[in-house]
Amino acid sequence: MNRSKSILFIPDFSHIYIEKRIKSHPLTDQILHRFPGAIKIEIDHYKDIFNRPRQNFFIQKNTQKLILAEKKDQRIYPGAEVCHDFGNKHFYYTSSILNCIYNCDYCYLQGMFPSSNIVIFVNIEDFFSDVEALLEKHPVYLAISYDTDLLAFENIVSFTSKWINFAQNHFDLKIEVRTKSVNYSAVQHLPPSENVILAWTVSPDEVIKKYEPKTPSLNGRLQAIKKAMNDGWKVRLCFDPLLHIKNWRQHYKECIDRTFVMLPPDKIEDISIGVFRMSREYLKNIRKNRTDSALIYYPFECKDGVYQYPDHITRQLIEYVFQLLSSRFPSEKIYI
Ligand code: SF4
Repeated sequence: MNRSKSILFIPDFSHIYIEKRIKSHPLTDQILHRFPGAIKIEIDHYKDIFNRPRQNFFIQKNTQKLILAEKKDQRIYPGAEVCHDFGNKHFYYTSSILNCIYNCDYCYLQGMFPSSNIVIFVNIEDFFSDVEALLEKHPVYLAISYDTDLLAFENIVSFTSKWINFAQNHFDLKIEVRTKSVNYSAVQHLPPSENVILAWTVSPDEVIKKYEPKTPSLNGRLQAIKKAMNDGWKVRLCFDPLLHIKNWRQHYKECIDRTFVMLPPDKIEDISIGVFRMSREYLKNIRKNRTDSALIYYPFECKDGVYQYPDHITRQLIEYVFQLLSSRFPSEKIYI
């Protein structure tokens, strides 16, 4: 099995925790059906498991458990300042799943959550109602794949398809599905939609190999992107986060060359560039528990509570990558 195919493998959860109040939700049933061998444990609230003290995010990552829960309270959040809004005035994000099957070294989830177990909020209908309430006030641009990689989970729970179907009936809603997955086949049967953007993170193979464990190769991602484009989907490429690794110029040049050999520029909706950044609190939490990642121990500088590369390095990374991209793609459609 090649790496891209193996990445579609569904994790074999040994334990599934289920909140009592959603045990008869239809999605709970569907998800449980996929894991007949798992030990099922009823719980009162997902935080009883997820927020337990003295957990180790990194050890748990080797044997992630699944938690099925109901998301109460806030479900739709204003977009974070460190994230691109792509010119959309009403930018929001939502997380119907917490945590990820991938394991990127630069992932802020490692410092944000006390546990790496995966939480799926099955009450997706409540997320939709919240978005409908917002749409009564103004158009909405919604990033639906935050705090997880939603498409990578599509074989466990088809949230991406549900969001796409929802967006197709709500023209004032624009959604972005950010992914590193090659699981495009899971949504390929759906008609492409004007207000849905499939956004792939594009990274050099060197970055994927060293800092994005378990994610598909660059070639796998480009193949998936190409299929989506040819089917008529709007596709965004995200060169984000750019990393200041050894021989970075060579790696990013090769990556961008390969991208444009494979993908026709006129079929790319837009491109984003971002440099590594992480809140002080999250990086501090990660450094407390993780010693195996050189990237995490880079001497970043803290500005306004956010760790980032020193200005001159940030500038070099952005200028170099922007120049490579803008020689092949309209610069006004490149977001920095
Ligand atoms: S794919 Fe995204 S959410 Fe998943 S581990 Fe990597 S950075 Fe985190």
